[in-house]
Amino acid sequence: MENHRSRLAALSNQVRHLLDNCALFAQPCLLCAGDGGPDGICAACRADLATLPAAHCPICADAGPTGLPCPHCRRRRPAFDTLNAPFVYAWPLSALIHAFKYGHRLDMAHALRALFARHAPEGPARPDLVVPVPLFAARLAERGFNQSLELARAFAVRMAAPLDDTLCVRVRNTPPQARLERAARTRNVADVFVVERAVTGLSVAIVDDVATSGATLDALAAALKKQGARRVDAWVLARVFYSKT
Ligand SMILES: [Zn+2]
Ligand SMILES: [Zn+2]
Repeated sequence: MENHRSRLAALSNQVRHLLDNCALFAQPCLLCAGDGGPDGICAACRADLATLPAAHCPICADAGPTGLPCPHCRRRRPAFDTLNAPFVYAWPLSALIHAFKYGHRLDMAHALRALFARHAPEGPARPDLVVPVPLFAARLAERGFNQSLELARAFAVRMAAPLDDTLCVRVRNTPPQARLERAARTRNVADVFVVERAVTGLSVAIVDDVATSGATLDALAAALKKQGARRVDAWVLARVFYSKT
């Protein structure tokens, strides 16, 4: 009897321990402050986020009502093979990403990683390597973390592919892309990335938080292809969508 009672006590301790751990992982939803569940953003808020419209350019994922390559990609094909994004860069996701990056809200990393891992589209190929878009060293020091690396970690787990955050280096800083016109964006990032080793024959996935014109991803993809990458596909959490409708 004594034995039975002590076994029960031990069991209830284990259950309590489990429940305590679950409570540690559950956090209020970042958007509605309700129960965020283990992902930190509740299912209802996730369902409200603006997903990428089905009709989009199959290369750069920008607006294209027919699903055919957009005028920019027809004029000059980017170095990446495809750009993939689950969401449009729109409120409230835009506000979350902004707070995460510029408000030093590393506590949001878990929720954004979970969101990305859960909703990243399948994409055309399983990558051999997952590479985050690197930050310039001084900017990394100022921000304390690379938001792209945080997302790339989750993506690598989802794809069961190795992550390499030392392969690519950003060799100079660039003015924020958001303030520049499209042509200036392309010039702004030319030769900004160095790929340190050959990646001959590999399929590489590059990961960033947001794509605006795609110029940054284009520049990194070009540097990877110069080092022998067979294909480069880009994944971002949100894409700025220039809808013409
Ligand atoms: Zn919510
Ligand atoms: Zn396009």
